[in-house]
Amino acid sequence: MTPPMKKLVLIGAGHAHAFVLEAFAKRPDPTIAITVVSDSALAAYSGSVPAWLAGECTLRETQIDVAALAQRAGARLITSPAVALDTSTRQVTLANGEVIPFDVASFNVGSTLMLPEQTLPEQPFSETYDEQRPYLLAMRPLSSLHHRWQALRENVEQLPQGSRQRVVSIGGGAAGCETLMSVLAQLRQQRPDISWQGALVSASTTLLPGAGRLPRWLTKRALHRAGITVLHGVRGQALIAGGVRTSEGELINADIVLWATGAVGHPWLADTQLPLDKHGFIRVGKSLDVVGQPGLFAAGDCAAFNPPLHASPLHSSSLPKAGVYAVRMGPLLADNLRAACHREPLATWQPPKRVLALIGTGDGHAIASRGQVGFSGRWVWEWKKRIDARFIARFNPPFER
Ligand SMILES: Cc1cc2nc3c(=O)[nH]c(=O)nc-3n(C[C@H](O)[C@H](O)[C@H](O)COP(=O)(O)OP(=O)(O)OC[C@H]3O[C@@H](n4cnc5c(N)ncnc54)[C@H](O)[C@@H]3O)c2cc1C
Repeated sequence: MTPPMKKLVLIGAGHAHAFVLEAFAKRPDPTIAITVVSDSALAAYSGSVPAWLAGECTLRETQIDVAALAQRAGARLITSPAVALDTSTRQVTLANGEVIPFDVASFNVGSTLMLPEQTLPEQPFSETYDEQRPYLLAMRPLSSLHHRWQALRENVEQLPQGSRQRVVSIGGGAAGCETLMSVLAQLRQQRPDISWQGALVSASTTLLPGAGRLPRWLTKRALHRAGITVLHGVRGQALIAGGVRTSEGELINADIVLWATGAVGHPWLADTQLPLDKHGFIRVGKSLDVVGQPGLFAAGDCAAFNPPLHASPLHSSSLPKAGVYAVRMGPLLADNLRAACHREPLATWQPPKRVLALIGTGDGHAIASRGQVGFSGRWVWEWKKRIDARFIARFNPPFER
């Protein structure tokens, strides 16, 4: 009698799961039935987000066609987000009510962020422009950023002729710096009649904590060239009338606020029996296996190593939440999911000692940062775009522009 097929469920269509699907497309396994659970049939690729925000490519050019990829892998795709998981009955529940049983499951659901406090309780918080409160553009979750960005651009269209607008980014990491420069460049292009000002607020004492001195200096220079003032050691806490209130109770004037603070885990994970760290990320061992939960795996932003891995001396605590790590975990995750389905030994993941970060500056240039090495230029931006386009093309069938 043939043994029953193993049920493998991939929760989230993040960067690591793209590699898993690619691996099964290249080497199918008739003994494993794969189900992909994703909130969308198209998944955002983080590397291309700055180019898209800067208006240099279409949204579609930044997305991986999960439906096509799943089809090539012989996997079933369900486009409804997971909302619950029961580790004892080994079932995932989706928003559409479906309950999916699994033998082996893997999380690659990315991250979100803590929205700022609301200090105007009598006025329900909304993402619409209003005289009193600044307009909020939350940078995570990445998968729905395009809806929020589109809404902001429509609101900007309504702004009075010749007005003055101050755009403030809360968060001094790569995403905060890069997106503020890209967003400002795009808004200046959209409404050249408006006087656009930019400010970046960083809780830490340096920009890009974890990067080398030269890349940090290049980023500081790029922000300065984009007319952006930088406030260090200031923690943005709440949106109030006129701007952002800091943890010290000061007001930072703002009309538009980009909220790009540190990543946290998706809230629904806290209602599962999964082991989570203090930021709500799933604790995994070196094989990307969830601690104490055989047959469960997690990769990318939603995973936290237990104990923490130190990718390099520059990373003082855990791995940074960057797409490049999700990408690097992908091939090993694919091998380990296959091995787990066959009850074979798991391989261990070695974090790269240094990774290359390419940070767009919104003016057709980019900064390359790798350890202490840093350089910038127009060609770096072209180089980044080529790398990102190649990455997306790897997973996508050719499509009509
Ligand atoms: C504005 C911004 C710019 C960035 N730029 C860069 C950059 O240039 N380079 C870089 O390396 N990193 C960048 N990052 C960081 C990068 O976005 C993340 O580290 C990366 O996307 C993590 O990849 P992932 O595969 O873990 O998750 P994601 O890429 O976030 O993928 C997770 C997937 O899971 C889906 N999902 C979420 N919840 C559920 C659910 N409940 N059920 C089913 N599916 C679900 C999502 O829709 C998404 O498709 C940026 C981040 C931000 C916010």
